[in-house]
Amino acid sequence: MAGNTQNPMDEPRYCGIPTFMRTPYSTDLNDLDIALVGVPYDGAVEARSGARQGPRQIRDMSSMMRSIHHVTRINPYKLCRVADVGDVHFSQIFDVAASHADIAGFYSRLHKAGIVPLSAGGDHSITLPIMRAIAANYPVGLVHIDAHTDCCDEEMNSKYSHGTPFRRAVEEALLDPKRTIQIGIRGAANSDECWEFGPQHGIRIVYIEEFNKLGVDKVIDEARRVVGDGPTYVSFDIDSLDPAFAPGTGTPEIGGLTAIEAQGLIRGIRGLNLVGADVVEVAPPFDSSGTTALIAATIMYEILCILAEKIADQS
Ligand code: MN
Ligand code: MN
Repeated sequence: MAGNTQNPMDEPRYCGIPTFMRTPYSTDLNDLDIALVGVPYDGAVEARSGARQGPRQIRDMSSMMRSIHHVTRINPYKLCRVADVGDVHFSQIFDVAASHADIAGFYSRLHKAGIVPLSAGGDHSITLPIMRAIAANYPVGLVHIDAHTDCCDEEMNSKYSHGTPFRRAVEEALLDPKRTIQIGIRGAANSDECWEFGPQHGIRIVYIEEFNKLGVDKVIDEARRVVGDGPTYVSFDIDSLDPAFAPGTGTPEIGGLTAIEAQGLIRGIRGLNLVGADVVEVAPPFDSSGTTALIAATIMYEILCILAEKIADQS
């Protein structure tokens, strides 16, 4: 059964089939507030692939999560009905457009059922079809934590790669650029265009140098100012973290966030009008210690807490 009828913490952590956070597995979309979703797809990666294996390893490491947040004392399972609804099913994995259509179809069903999705990727291209499903009628704001803007026009002559989703989302009027903040941006590129698109359209970019100068609390203030109280999506690319913390990703960039800074950012956006979130780009082949997936699972838990609190507040 879906929801909080089962105490997910009753079992030893190594037992059973691993679901996200040890929540019940359910394909029944009735009586559900928050769906934990796996999107095992990395067909739009230009550099090192492997994020297709992210959901499976994040599920495994997420068995380390428990219920009550040590700072906020939020227990998401007391506030909301939460289940692992499994993975998006892909009908043609070698076709990017068809795969994105599969993702959009899956999230449309969740959206129609009034369920808020919290997803594990997968490469960052998955966020575009998720937005096509949940922002079809009204553009969302975005808190985007990443080393990269993912606002390129094309990558390898493709409009749909993991480096382009937010430019497409702005063009498709799914994303309100004036309610978008990108945090942690860094790393060299071969042209300026991926950085220029945002400011030209009103996206607020907080490069890592500004982040370090301002500190977590002031960046949170800025994020809250930018997105306001409209519907807001959170997209967390694990490569926002320094590879010392999260080496298991396809496009690592040194000089990034610490794990505690990342947690601070998520806790700081508590209370926003959140309509969904994802954690992407965990590539288990490069994650020999498992810490990258552990951080991803923990960030998912942090997001789950603020999502559950917001949904419970609204009902
Ligand atoms: Mn990204
Ligand atoms: Mn990135």
